[in-house]
Amino acid sequence: MTPPLSDDPSSPSLRIDTSKPHPARMYDYFLGGKDNYPVDQEAAEKFIEAAPEVRDGVRANRRFLHRAVRHVVAEGGVRQILDIGTGLPTEPNVHQIAHAVAPGTRVAYVDNDPIVGAHSRALMNDEADTSVVLADLRDPRAVLDHPGVREVIDFDEPVALLLVAILHFITDAEDPEGIVATLRDALPAGSFLVLSHATGDLHADGRAEAAAVYKNATASMNPRPHARVLDLFGDFTLLDPGLVLVPDWRPDEPPAPGAPPIGIYGGVARKG
Ligand code: SAH
Repeated sequence: MTPPLSDDPSSPSLRIDTSKPHPARMYDYFLGGKDNYPVDQEAAEKFIEAAPEVRDGVRANRRFLHRAVRHVVAEGGVRQILDIGTGLPTEPNVHQIAHAVAPGTRVAYVDNDPIVGAHSRALMNDEADTSVVLADLRDPRAVLDHPGVREVIDFDEPVALLLVAILHFITDAEDPEGIVATLRDALPAGSFLVLSHATGDLHADGRAEAAAVYKNATASMNPRPHARVLDLFGDFTLLDPGLVLVPDWRPDEPPAPGAPPIGIYGGVARKG
């Protein structure tokens, strides 16, 4: 069972636990950030040993996020973004990318890690068009109905739903397909789904050793093959070039020669 999350500062779910690695803090470490603890650094270093391309991978994932957000705002015309699995603040953040194209674009940031909530709130304090919500993707209805989400997102208008580098933290038993279907159903026509997901497809061992590092973390790592990730888009229409490795999704520049293959798929799809 997923424990209920509370915004009450005395709630145990808001205490920062430094005894176990947290995916958000490990991701921050991979990106070269400072919002992480020794327990996260140790786990991240183990992951780097098993999968040396991970730092290039998270940077490539982040750049995919930038290009996809720019696209759905500039070309797709959406003015509301629901970003589930926000991660620790990393410049440029989603609202900054969106505002550079269309100031006033509203962004709801959702994460289940209290440290993400705390840091994001500190950063977003003065931002009128954003909200920061502590909620869990495994309860998609609670995310959709959360007052902090409803405050900035009007589900009668197109929404860009971001599920970027989060779904591999959901186990099969937690039903990622069902979760994403619930979210897709809540979006009106003209909405977009921006999704990226780790895969073991590129490596003979499926990157099992690297994924195992997350066994002691607060969420496990569940890389999935192309067909499984593709299914998550349901009947939405994938934009060109489809579901591809993140560096290959509408790159701004040709790949650097000798760049390692990045085991993260990314795609953008439109509803209706
Ligand atoms: N989307 C950002 C950050 C990815 S890191 C990016 O791509 O750059 C993954 C984030 O998902 C972390 O912040 C982690 O705390 C969050 N996360 C993991 N499982 C979650 C869940 N069940 N509900 C909400 N957030 C979750």
